[in-house]
Amino acid sequence: MKLETTCIQAGWKPGNGAPRVLPIYQSTTFKYDTSEQMGKLFDLEDNGYFYTRLQNPTNDAVASKIAELEGGTAAMLTASGQAATFYSIFNICSAGDHVISTSAIYGGTFNLFSITLARLGIEVSFIDQEASEECIDLAFKPNTKAFFAETIANPSLAVLDIERIARIAHKHGVPLIVDNTFATPLLCRPLEWGADIVIHSTTKYMDGHASSVGGVIVDGGRFDWDKHSDRYPGLTSPDPSYHGIVYTQKFGNTAYLTKATVQLMRDLGATQSPQNAFLINLGLETLHLRMERHSQNALHVANYLQAQPKVAWVHYSGLKNDPYYALAQKYLPMGSCGVVTFGLKGGREASIQLMDRLKLAAIVTHVADARTSVLHPASHTHRQLTDKQLVEAGVQPDLIRFSVGIEHIDDILSDLQQALDFIPQSAK
Ligand SMILES: *Cc1c(COP(=O)(O)O)cnc(C)c1O
Repeated sequence: MKLETTCIQAGWKPGNGAPRVLPIYQSTTFKYDTSEQMGKLFDLEDNGYFYTRLQNPTNDAVASKIAELEGGTAAMLTASGQAATFYSIFNICSAGDHVISTSAIYGGTFNLFSITLARLGIEVSFIDQEASEECIDLAFKPNTKAFFAETIANPSLAVLDIERIARIAHKHGVPLIVDNTFATPLLCRPLEWGADIVIHSTTKYMDGHASSVGGVIVDGGRFDWDKHSDRYPGLTSPDPSYHGIVYTQKFGNTAYLTKATVQLMRDLGATQSPQNAFLINLGLETLHLRMERHSQNALHVANYLQAQPKVAWVHYSGLKNDPYYALAQKYLPMGSCGVVTFGLKGGREASIQLMDRLKLAAIVTHVADARTSVLHPASHTHRQLTDKQLVEAGVQPDLIRFSVGIEHIDDILSDLQQALDFIPQSAK
């Protein structure tokens, strides 16, 4: 099936006389006829539902649709994007381990990596994803267990050279985990370019209507954990919490995802609610239409802003003069998503003034949904970062993150125009 069809048809497969639309299994628990059947589920001897903290049919239908969209072997929904990021790392890292991340990442991920993972004894080094291969090589240590990056970085909009970074990570025997939130599988499928694990904040484009916080982890199923078994003992040696099963032996190309479900979800419990999973599924059914329109509208906005004398700079990888245009042509041929960033000649002050003046574009701590929205990362999502960290994360102090919605382009542009008219002509 084409991706557009997968958006609608994958996941829930009703049998004869079953509900056409994915039902919400609003049940914590599932009934069995014999005690023995239930026991087998706890030993992972049998497949089946027993408790929604681990698995739920509504969630699984949505996860399997996303796995299919990304071209992965299996997927698991999580309560939030943050939980997906944390589990994706913690599934293969313990105290004493090391992770490499690009510095151009979401502010929440930066906090998780630099503060919370450090408290758990997991050290994260941040690197410039455009540094030379020799330079990136130097970041690897004997205890490096994962490489983390974003397809389109939030909010610097840097486009990741997935193929190159995957090759470097694999040279060191380490999997590449990619946060594909901004691109969605409709615009880019990182697993096809060599990534091993994909995660999303489904809160953004996948839901698309700003109704439900959620996340997902997709297993690419190709990383050879057994080849590096000394580095990934959690996957390749017996798990005492399941009578000594070995995930890679028992579950093959879904070993990583199975471990994340039966061990991390069991013990840490950041479960998606079936109600939210249902809403995310509704979002997925129109994802292909929305991503096309978001990208079209954003390109219009980027072109418009570039022509405004009060605008100092614009970043959007769909613009021919953008530093990421060539990478976008390769990885994002269908569009560069709806997020555009820009700064004004009047600097930080003027940026804040402009935001306050916008009417249709709302100031919200959100990005990537149907409604046009706007945020000033230096004062909002990234306000915990020092000036130096801001620069490394690609967040200039005057940067406005403009998330272009799917309203009519004329209305979005006239909102920007009336707000820009209000800003005094800068002397700079
Ligand atoms: C929002 C976001 C997250 C975190 O997701 P939540 O659903 O808010 O927990 C992670 N990565 C990126 C790129 C995001 O935009």
